[in-house]
Amino acid sequence: MYSPDIIGHQALRERLLERLKTGRIRGSLLFTGPEGIGKRRVGLELAQRELCLRRSACGQCEPCRMFAGEELPFELPNLLRITPEGKAGVIRIDQIREGLDSTNQPRFSRGVIEWASLAPALGCHRWILVEEAHRLNESSGNILLKTLEEPPAGTHFILVTHRPEALLQTIRSRCERIPLAPLSLAEAWAVALRNGWDTSDQERWTALGEGSLRFLDEATFRRAEAQVEAWIALMGGASFAAWSGPLLPEKESALAQGEQLRQPLELLLRLLADLARMHAGEPPALAPWREALAPVATRLRNLKAPQEVILEALRHLPRNLSPEPLLREVALAIGV
Ligand SMILES: [Zn+2]
Repeated sequence: MYSPDIIGHQALRERLLERLKTGRIRGSLLFTGPEGIGKRRVGLELAQRELCLRRSACGQCEPCRMFAGEELPFELPNLLRITPEGKAGVIRIDQIREGLDSTNQPRFSRGVIEWASLAPALGCHRWILVEEAHRLNESSGNILLKTLEEPPAGTHFILVTHRPEALLQTIRSRCERIPLAPLSLAEAWAVALRNGWDTSDQERWTALGEGSLRFLDEATFRRAEAQVEAWIALMGGASFAAWSGPLLPEKESALAQGEQLRQPLELLLRLLADLARMHAGEPPALAPWREALAPVATRLRNLKAPQEVILEALRHLPRNLSPEPLLREVALAIGV
């Protein structure tokens, strides 16, 4: 009945399917929850089961295989996917209105508005999946709003985001919010195993991922690991020049520089939360780094001041300040 490729979210997926069958599903849904827990995958399953030759998201038939690969299709008879584009990573107004990509080549034959206005085939629903919906800017969000308000019968929007607070309030209020919880650590690791991960990495991988699949890609995981180690070194008083490498943005990344700082700063907040746990005599959540954190915990007692510096830095990221001075300031706040 359910795609065998999906691990987790079983109860929610059953409930969505049941509501769909009985016509009790709203036109606009907002899937929220931490990054990398499979929100998009759960949304795609709704479209997949209607294209599936067995009507069950069997994972085996020809249409189902289109959903299994790395390169997901952007447009199918009952599915349109909208994703952020370009270095700035925003969903632009012309993607919503005309459906052109950044090279001005038609990627969709129609923009979202026109696509949404077409009637679905009998017994089928049409799905418009807006990924990373917090990257809608004000103008593209406002254009989308009119269609979101009253999608045609049988057409559903699914907006997916891990940062709902960054969405226009008017958009949030028009959608039914469907919160997704993190996977259990065992579920997340089951996906990792299927993707070729080795048990020697299990402890660190599950601790860093917290029930998400954010670090399924090995290079991404190694980078996060290096960032944790760099912060621990800096908290121990090591030199910024020697340790800042893994914290600084990568030139060849598709993400804007400021946005690339989000992960290391959020990791540092987690490390500080662990120091607070250790001060209270509790074990750290990032348990594999417990030994490395122990000497820092005895030296770094005031956590409030550095936390404020980090939160302030996070607030400034969208303005895309120079990464290095910003990191230096944070390093100064945590160095002992
Ligand atoms: Zn199938």
